[in-house]
Amino acid sequence: MTEFIRFGDPSRFEVAMRWASDYEPRVRRPAHGGWSTGELRVTVGNLVLTRHEFTGNDRDAVHWYLFPFFEWLATNWVSLLHEERFAWRDNHAVPAATAVFMALRRLIDARSESEQEEYTAVQRWWARHALRAADSSALFPDLVIRRLVNDVEISWTARQPSYAPDGYRFMLAPGAATLPISEVAAPLWEALAWAVSAPPTDLNADDRKSIAELKRKIDQLRLLPLAALQQAYLPTELFRKVERVRDSIGLHDHSIRATSLPAITQFDDAVLMFGGVSPNIGVQDTRTLLNLLENQIGGQDSFELAELVDTTIGAPLTTPFEEGYDLAEELLDDLDLADGTTVVDMRALVSRLGIRVIEQHLHTSTIRGVAIAGTKYYPAIFVNLTSAYNAEEPGRRFTLAHEFFHILYDRKRARRITHSSGPWAPPGIEKRANAFAAMLLMPRHLVRNFLPHDDLSRDSLFDMATAIEVGATALLEHLFNIGVIDEFKRDELRAALETSV
Ligand SMILES: [Zn+2]
Repeated sequence: MTEFIRFGDPSRFEVAMRWASDYEPRVRRPAHGGWSTGELRVTVGNLVLTRHEFTGNDRDAVHWYLFPFFEWLATNWVSLLHEERFAWRDNHAVPAATAVFMALRRLIDARSESEQEEYTAVQRWWARHALRAADSSALFPDLVIRRLVNDVEISWTARQPSYAPDGYRFMLAPGAATLPISEVAAPLWEALAWAVSAPPTDLNADDRKSIAELKRKIDQLRLLPLAALQQAYLPTELFRKVERVRDSIGLHDHSIRATSLPAITQFDDAVLMFGGVSPNIGVQDTRTLLNLLENQIGGQDSFELAELVDTTIGAPLTTPFEEGYDLAEELLDDLDLADGTTVVDMRALVSRLGIRVIEQHLHTSTIRGVAIAGTKYYPAIFVNLTSAYNAEEPGRRFTLAHEFFHILYDRKRARRITHSSGPWAPPGIEKRANAFAAMLLMPRHLVRNFLPHDDLSRDSLFDMATAIEVGATALLEHLFNIGVIDEFKRDELRAALETSV
């Protein structure tokens, strides 16, 4: 057997492979790809995801025909590296490998036509992103790759392959990693090039034909224009709308393509702004949002804001709630606001940091707020007054705090943020910003100070919410999340709140 050919860095992302000799006669192997017996090893953060045990032995690599994997990789290349959105509405703050499994399980006995359509859409999404879709007869780990803003998210579950022989078992705990696009795209691209340039030698005419076809696919990918790659990030209709309006107001496309391979390392800010937007948004709202973006060009963070920004936080990988709470508590300390008696004046705070607040009605109610900040922008928070959340001042304060989180911690590698918040945005990112907002507006000390001495009732909950200038529902959920009340009390008060409207 030859040595493994390795692409990438195992401490980040590595894909390694080699051809292997097959004692099975060629006629008994699959006609398609039966020539490609080999081994595949995938490593993320030094964790070998293909590691498994079989008949008492530890093996690092999956041994099977490799050609279907390469075909799948080339066919789904654009989606794997540029499609972030799920094909279904998801409210779980979990990585894609778990989210897509839960969506399939929820719809598996779909009866109604609309549910069956949704099931098909989920199934297709899975086929574009899940390694197991590459070859149903291979014993691959349950690994899913997708875009996440300007990163690649690689996630996996501990689910074993359905038809694994006895004693075949992947040794994995569920996990996820987010990595810069080039650290994943480059090794995969090199692996594709290797597959077509250094195949095994004993091939028949059909085998050579399928390799030539794969090579053609790779060459086509190489020629794809920037727009074709960008398009995978947004639903087609929405992308067209954004492109049209962007051109009409003279905003240039600033997407950055990786050198020498078909992948966008940084999406254009206008495209990113619509990543968390309902596909049904109208042209007028699209124009309002892009004008907003255009108006903010030419500025930068104030000195005080720049001091607070942290671009190293990354995507939420642990519990979004804990991450949001911790960051809020650190910030309260930094700002000397943790004294426990004063309610944070959100408007004064963002104004002091030079963040402009724009309050306006969009046609859609599905966008709650928008955050714009970073290199080349005057920082701004847009509050959509059409959103039910923003009907009252406590809700608007919450939106300000939520968008403030994106401005401080969600910029990452591009060092910019153009994010729209609402039910269409990635749930993990949204839940973390919500947790931050809750803790910033309702720090533990403050809660303790204002908590009524006797048992919490519906009326005293309202009084307390008024005193600390938050909504009663937000307060109730926060009290439960920080362990001040138990589940029983929360449910009792939830019911009381519902009957009071
Ligand atoms: Zn948000």
